[in-house]
Parts: sequence; structure tokens; C-alpha cells
Amino acid sequence: MITRKSAAEIEKMRRAGRIVAEVLALLESELRPGVTTGHLDALAERHIRAAGAIPSFLGYLGSGRYGKGPKAFPASTCISIDSEVVHGIPGERVIRTGALVSVDVGAIVDGWHGDGARSFLVGEASAEARELVEATQLAMMAGIAAARPGNRVGDISAAVEDIGKAHGFGIVRPFVGHGIGTEMHQDPQVPNYRTGSRGPELQPGMCLAIEPMFTLGDGDVYVEADNWTVSTADDTLAAHFEHTIAITAQGPEILTTIPS
Ligand code: MG
Repeated sequence: MITRKSAAEIEKMRRAGRIVAEVLALLESELRPGVTTGHLDALAERHIRAAGAIPSFLGYLGSGRYGKGPKAFPASTCISIDSEVVHGIPGERVIRTGALVSVDVGAIVDGWHGDGARSFLVGEASAEARELVEATQLAMMAGIAAARPGNRVGDISAAVEDIGKAHGFGIVRPFVGHGIGTEMHQDPQVPNYRTGSRGPELQPGMCLAIEPMFTLGDGDVYVEADNWTVSTADDTLAAHFEHTIAITAQGPEILTTIPS
């Protein structure tokens, strides 16, 4: 069931989204060679709690069907490096020069969720890594631009897919965008590719997480033995960007942002 949020509910999601954006900005400023992913995660959790929010990823229950790792996600952020696409578990790993680091953050304010992600390049990076990161962000923004009343979910998918294909990048298909509100994942699913159906009509009050994941290869992925980390099957680089948005009568409003 697709829910439409009230103005008061969207205001809570705006607060959650702002905290997510603050954490991403904080981690960007702390991201340098030599730092561990666990340190970055600790900074994120501290900021989320100091802001009066709850880290939604911590203890999140996955399917638990893949490997020997924890069933509940053990951290407040997902930090995925190079060929890791999403759901990397922070820990003792050290960030190195040239790494492509994708950070995904979720926060809950008064029961309402925000969810956002960005990919960062640490120091010198190859031209193709830069193109991958830039195109994935551009695809997210194109998907957001298509998220307006009267359009359909499939129009978001088409906008994202077109940019991925124009660059020849792989589009990760098993993981998709989603509705969001009192749960991190709600209806509808928002695929990053055309499905053959235009999907549900977009209406004011709908809130969506739009999150393309592109790779330098064919886009096939698998789940690592840690039960969470999703990596490219061909070991190529992957990038991931995500915003939570609200659809208003005037068009999309990005909620995972720091108001100026
Ligand atoms: Mg998400």
C-alpha cells in the first residue's frame, strides 16, 4: 500500500533527512587515507544520537539467508568500498588513497525515517571512477526531477536507466529505491531500470528514496559471506547515491539536505 504523508509527517521526515545529510557531510570531511570505517561509523552514530534521532540501520533485520555473518545489521552506517556496492559493514578496515567509498545513512525522528547515500573518491582517482561517481549522482538527480505529480514510478526508473545506459555502466537490479515513512522500506519499489510497466501514479504526499547503483561492469552482484555486503560479481567499481524526497504539488522536495 502506498501512503501519502501529511505536512506534519513530512516535517518530521525533513528533520530526519537533515540529520542524514549532516552525517554525510561530516563523514565527507573526515574521510581521508588512514581512517577506519569503524571510526567513521562511530562519528555517525554519535551525531545521530546527539541530534535526538535513532540510527535506523543499527539492528536492522535482513533476510539472514546468505552467509555466516550477523542477521541484524551491526552498525549505524553502511560503508562500501570499491567493488562493494551497498551494505558494507564498518569495522577495522582502513581507507586508502584512491578508494571509492560509498556511505549510506538512515535516521529516525519521532518514528519517521530519512535515508541517504553518497559515493566519495579519496584522493587521486581514475577518470572512469570519477565518471562513474558523477553519472550515478546525475542519474539520482534525473530520477528526482521525474518525481512529480502526474508522472509514474516508471518515469523515475526510465530517467535513471537512461543515464546509466548512456555511459555504458552496469545497473544493479536486485536492489531498488523505495517508499519511506514510518518504515525505512515501504511501497512502492522504485527500480533503477524500466520494468515494462509504468507503475503507480505519483501524487503529492508520497515520499520516496531514489537510489541508483551503477557499476563499471555488467551490474551483476552477490552477497558476501558476512551476510550483508553486496559486491559486484565482476569485481568492478560501484557507486551509489540516494536522496529521500517528498512529492509536492509543485514537484519533488529533497528531504535529505541541509537547508541553507
Ligand atoms: Mg534506501
